[in-house]
Amino acid sequence: MKEFHERFGMEPAGVWSAPGRVNLIGEHTDYNDGFVLPFAIPMRTTVAARPADGPFWTVYSRETGETVVISEADLRPGAVNGWAAYVAGVPWALRAAGHRPPFLDLAITSDVPLGAGLSSSAALTCAVLAALVDLGGLDLSRDDWPAVAQRAENSYVGAPTGIMDQSASTLCRPGHAMFLDCRSGDREHVPFALAEHDLAMLVIDSRAPHSHADGEYAARRASCESAAQTLGLRALRDLAAEDLPAACGRLDEVTARRVRHVVTENARVLETVEKLRGGSVTGIGPLLTASHASMRDDYEITVPEIDTAVETALAAGAYGARMTGGGFGGCVLALVDADAAERVADAVTAAFAERGFTAPTWFRAVAAGGATREA
Ligand code: ADP
Ligand code: MG
Repeated sequence: MKEFHERFGMEPAGVWSAPGRVNLIGEHTDYNDGFVLPFAIPMRTTVAARPADGPFWTVYSRETGETVVISEADLRPGAVNGWAAYVAGVPWALRAAGHRPPFLDLAITSDVPLGAGLSSSAALTCAVLAALVDLGGLDLSRDDWPAVAQRAENSYVGAPTGIMDQSASTLCRPGHAMFLDCRSGDREHVPFALAEHDLAMLVIDSRAPHSHADGEYAARRASCESAAQTLGLRALRDLAAEDLPAACGRLDEVTARRVRHVVTENARVLETVEKLRGGSVTGIGPLLTASHASMRDDYEITVPEIDTAVETALAAGAYGARMTGGGFGGCVLALVDADAAERVADAVTAAFAERGFTAPTWFRAVAAGGATREA
């Protein structure tokens, strides 16, 4: 990697990468012990590394233009802030799990957009983890990578993410989405080969400002927890669809709608998995669109830019469309015929211009593979 050579004046011992992800369906279900269905995207974060001369991790990121030196004394939460915390958190989490990660010089490049909801943070932690595990010869099964990377984000960086992002970034397979049970950790790789069906998945970044997202996320989480408590359930995952009407009768109107989103969204994930197992990709379209309506009307986490993108994509012929990610901005997915991708994206761009919104960006996502050694 040229960045490694420029910064450290020699060749790296190896190069590793890990992808960003989008969630096909299953939004705000993770913290309710429910189901999600992410797939890895072709955009990746790449880490070139070699053993360091001294007891330090020296890390350069092309995306920030900065170099940060992390010492052993920095391996405690709060010692490193900003982007380098995502790097320092990984050897910290490895040590906490009883491993001895090697000291490295690291150079990082990424084509995952930062902070767009495509999980550049997990791509970064998982790529760094891959380098540390390989160069250190650490005895850490691939199945255990997501928990280590999650611990780095949750406890070192202080970012409250579930296990989805790190699981997708480490374990996804090309041409498959990953069905993940957030309670048991069980995973199934479900066929999702868009090109074989002459289909494309547009990912449209609304570029809407993410205002209030953190506070609203905390509020949704709290209302799910209090609803589960009122209903005497361990988590909303345990509320069966047929018991929903009776349960809603015991909750205030707003909380009832929040609960309805979670219960119906879990059911939609299961139905989506069924369709994909049966080889019907266009069959998931109505489920995607229903998921969006539920996020808009029941969970109330969409914004005008996002709703405009979904409505316009559907009007332009998409089989289904929905916001993906935590909400209040971020990206929209639209399932379209491969040869219609450009036209649908142009229609969304035009609709944004008409309403005076910042122009969206977009790309075609295919389901890519998880963290890997590149060289
Ligand atoms: P997302 O994961 O959706 O992109 P997050 O807010 O979880 O958004 O993570 C984004 C943060 O992760 C950035 O602000 C930055 O601190 C860090 N980050 C991600 N990728 C890189 C990178 N290549 N170089 C430096 N920092 C990065
Ligand atoms: Mg993130």
